[in-house]
Amino acid sequence: MADIQRNLRDTLACVEQSQTAPQTGLLCVLQARLVAVSKTKPVGSIQAAYDIGQRHFGENYLQELVEKSRQLSQDICWHYIGQLQTNKCKALAEVPNLWAVETIDSVKRARALNTACQHRPTPLNIFVQVNTSQEENKGGIPVAEAETLCRYVLDDCPQLHLLGLMTIGSVEHSGRIPNPDFQLMAKLQADLSRTLGRDLELSMGMSHDYQHALKMGATNVRVGSSIFGARAPKV
Ligand SMILES: *Cc1c(COP(=O)(O)O)cnc(C)c1O
Repeated sequence: MADIQRNLRDTLACVEQSQTAPQTGLLCVLQARLVAVSKTKPVGSIQAAYDIGQRHFGENYLQELVEKSRQLSQDICWHYIGQLQTNKCKALAEVPNLWAVETIDSVKRARALNTACQHRPTPLNIFVQVNTSQEENKGGIPVAEAETLCRYVLDDCPQLHLLGLMTIGSVEHSGRIPNPDFQLMAKLQADLSRTLGRDLELSMGMSHDYQHALKMGATNVRVGSSIFGARAPKV
């Protein structure tokens, strides 16, 4: 637990440092948000991070999120970062302290989540997930269709609040500097912020590349293993 707290402090320091690089976006005055990705990790690990002030946590699996949200403090801000299935939207929307869904990648899923959020007191934050690497197996909407989906959320989903764009990026690109996925997202963010007339956030960067992502304009980074330790491989 002491390790987790030390890792978290180190990560936060890195986030702050990387942010001192000159930024071009309109959001440069904001402190970037660190989402501690706690998938597969026990509630004790989350509590250790919580105890030193961390509030934003990310989960990929619905059942795990539901259980953890019941066991932990209600002032945690949960981010759902797993693939979204339309038939799971209702259960997801029932998590009272769900703060954002980062993986909206089709009109169908936006519509399903909007309907599922009917009874929430305030609109739910969402990110439109973009597939920047054109990999078949990656979630995300093609770059060329991102604007249409953003407009759909803005015009037809009153229960959703469009916060920004998200990408996972390809493993292949992840070691490259500058990372072509991040470059593409920074351009898309600038273009869409202009055409939609609102500032969009950028969720990109994970343990191995979040510092680079911040330099490229990320406002939301999702960091798991470098805070909580390596995850056991999926069985
Ligand atoms: C697991 C996961 C992360 C965190 O990955 P790490 O490499 O452990 O930092 C970030 N984003 C998404 C979408 C994930 O599934």
